[in-house]
Amino acid sequence: STPGGAETSRPGSGNGPPAGVARIRVVVRKRPINKKELARKEEDVVWIDEAGTALQVHEPRQKVDLTAYVEKHEFMFDAVLNDQVTNDEVYRLTVEPLVQTIFNKGRATCFAYGQTGSGKTYTMQPLPMRATADIFQLMGAPQHHDLQLWLSYFEIYGGKVYDLLNDRRKLCMREDGRQQVCIVGLKEHKVEAVGDVRDFLERGNSTRSTGVTGANEESSRSHAILQLALKKHKDGDFSRGGKLVGKFSFIDLAGSERGADTYDNDKQTRLEGAEINKSLLALKECIRALDHEQGHIPFRGSKLTEVLRDSFVGNSRTVMIANISPNAGSCEHTLNTLRYADRVKGLSRNQRTSNG
Ligand code: ADP
Repeated sequence: STPGGAETSRPGSGNGPPAGVARIRVVVRKRPINKKELARKEEDVVWIDEAGTALQVHEPRQKVDLTAYVEKHEFMFDAVLNDQVTNDEVYRLTVEPLVQTIFNKGRATCFAYGQTGSGKTYTMQPLPMRATADIFQLMGAPQHHDLQLWLSYFEIYGGKVYDLLNDRRKLCMREDGRQQVCIVGLKEHKVEAVGDVRDFLERGNSTRSTGVTGANEESSRSHAILQLALKKHKDGDFSRGGKLVGKFSFIDLAGSERGADTYDNDKQTRLEGAEINKSLLALKECIRALDHEQGHIPFRGSKLTEVLRDSFVGNSRTVMIANISPNAGSCEHTLNTLRYADRVKGLSRNQRTSNG
C-alpha cells in the first residue's frame, strides 16, 4: 500500500511575481516502485503524509539476536510529492513560480539530486521545455519585444567542462574583472520554438552517451547543465550578442551514490567519485550560505559551484528536487538523499523512532 496524499503548497497558477517565492525551496519526489522491485518482493518503505509535506522512511533492521524491527525516520520539506504526481504538477510546483525571476534581472536554478535510478532525468528532462513555453508567452508582451532566448547545454565530468552541443569540446573557464566566471567558447543557440529545446536536449544527450561504458553508467558520473539565457537587444539590433537579462539553469546532478565511489579499486572511478563528492558537498554549502543570507558564498569549492557562481548571487531563486526510490533495497541511499536535502533546507529535525 502506498500512502501519501498529493501536494499541498501549490502556488497560484500563472507566473506569479518572484517576490513571494522563497529563495530556496526543497521538494522531494518519490518515484513509483517498479516491476523488478516488485518481482523481488521488495516493500515500499517511503510513507508520505496526506498534507504532502512530511515523509517517513521505514527502515528494515535487525537486532543483534537477529529479530527484525523497523526504524522510522521522519523528515519535512517544502513539499513531498508521491508517486502519482505527474511531471506537469512537478513543473507547476517547482519551476513555474521561478520563470518570472529571469525577466527581473534574476537567476533561477533547478537541481535534481538523488541516487542513480531515482528519477532525476525523468523529472528534469521536461522542465526546460515547459519553462520555455511560459518564457515565450511572457516574451510576447510589448515591453519584451527586444528579448531573445538562448540555450547552452554542457556537462561537468571529472571536474572538467564539456560542450554537449559542440562535439563535446573541452572548455576552460575564465574569471573576468568583475568576479564573473565565464566558460570560454561555450556555444549558445537561439531558441525559436519550444520544440528546439527538445531537439537540443536530444542532440546533447546523444553526445553524452558515447562513453565506452554505456549511457547510464557514463551519465550518472557527470552533472548535466542546461541554461536558458534571456538577452536584450538594444534598439532591436539582433545582429550583435545581446545583454544578459536573466538566466534559468537546469541541473541534472551526478548520481549521489557516485560520491561514495572513493574506495573503488579502479583509480579513474575513485578520482571521479572524489570529484563528485566534492562538488555535491560544495553545492550544499553554497545553498545553505544563500539560505542563511551569508555574505560569503563558498563557490570556489568545486567546478560545479564555480560555474554556477552567478546563479548564487543577487536576485536568485533556487529549487532543489530530491528524487528518491521507494524500495527497501534503496533505503540507505534514500536516507542519504533525505539527509542531504534536509541539510540544504529541512523544515524539521530528523526524528528517529524505533519500534518492534
Ligand atoms: P536517474 O536519472 O535518477 O538515474 P531515471 O530518470 O533514469 O533515473 O529513472 C529511472 C527509471 O524510472 C526510468 O525508467 C524512468 O522512466 C522511471 N521513472 C522515474 N521516475 C518516475 C516516475 N515519477 N513515474 C514513472 N516512472 C518513473
